[in-house]
Amino acid sequence: MFLKGKTALITGSTSGIGLAYAKALAREGANIVINGFGDADAIETERKALQELSGAKALYSGADLTKPEQIEDMMKQAASAFGGIDILINNAGTQHVEAVETFPVEKWDLIIALNLTAAFHTTRLAVPYMKKQGWGRIIATASAHSQVASPNKSAYVSAKFALAGFAKTVALETARDGITVNCISPGYVWTPLVENQIPDTMKARGMTREEVMNDVLLSAQPTKEFVTPEQVAAFALYLCRDEAKAITGANISMDGGWTAQ
Ligand code: NAD
Repeated sequence: MFLKGKTALITGSTSGIGLAYAKALAREGANIVINGFGDADAIETERKALQELSGAKALYSGADLTKPEQIEDMMKQAASAFGGIDILINNAGTQHVEAVETFPVEKWDLIIALNLTAAFHTTRLAVPYMKKQGWGRIIATASAHSQVASPNKSAYVSAKFALAGFAKTVALETARDGITVNCISPGYVWTPLVENQIPDTMKARGMTREEVMNDVLLSAQPTKEFVTPEQVAAFALYLCRDEAKAITGANISMDGGWTAQ
C-alpha cells in the first residue's frame, strides 16, 4: 500500500471516473476526501466502503464547486482532518451540447466555473501544503476535448483546453518542489456524463440513440470501445508513484486513438 499516510481529495467523486479514482487510491492506503452530489445514503455507503478498502479514513464534502467559498470550506475540512492534501484530483465536470448561437449563457457560466475555475481554487489552496511537504501530485481529468474540438460543445472544449494550459503552467511553477501536475485526457468513458448527453445530441443532430452511440460517440474512437473508469484510475495511480516523478506538465491521452487521427 504505497499511499499509506497520504491524503487524496478527488472532486466530483460520487460517481463515474471520480469514484473509480477514489477506490484505486483508497486501495493503496490513502485517506480520501470524496466530493460531489447525489443521494445521501448512497454516498454514505460509498464512503464507508472506501474506508473498508484499507482501513484509512474517508470523508465526504458536499461542496458545490461552482462556489469558491464552498471550495475553501472543503479544503479547510480536509486540512483539519488530515493536515493537508498530498494528492489533488481535479475531476468534477459537466457538459451541455448545443450550437453556439443558442447555447444558454447560464450553461456556459456553469461549465467554465465547474470544469475550469474550480480547479484553480482547489490547486491554489493545495499547493502551499504540498510545497511544505516537498511532495505532491495534481491530476486533472481533462478530455480528448482538451486537444481537439467537436461541434456543439463550445463551453466544454473551451474549459478543457484552458484546464490543460492551467496544468502546464502550474507544473512549471512547482517543478522544483517535488510536485507533478498532469492531465489525463480520456476519450469517451461510459459514465452518467456520457449517458446524459445522448438525448441532447439526439436533439442537436436529429439522430436516433443508436446513431448517436455509433456515429457520434464511438465514431471518434478507432478502437470502437469505450474507455473504462478503472483504466483512467489505474493511470492516475501510476502518476502517484515515485517512478512517475519525471512526468509533469503532460497531457496524456487515453482515447483509443481518437487524437492520433
Ligand atoms: P459524472 O457525471 O459521472 O461525474 C461528475 C461528478 O461531478 C459527480 O460526482 C457529480 O456529483 C459531480 N458534480 C457535478 N456538479 C458538481 C458541482 N457543482 N460541485 C461538485 N461536484 C459536482 O461524470 P464523469 O464522466 O465521471 O466525468 C468526470 C470528469 O471526466 C469530468 O471532468 C469530465 O469532463 C471528464 N471526462 C469524461 C469523459 C467521459 O466520456 N465520461 C471523457 C473525458 C473526460
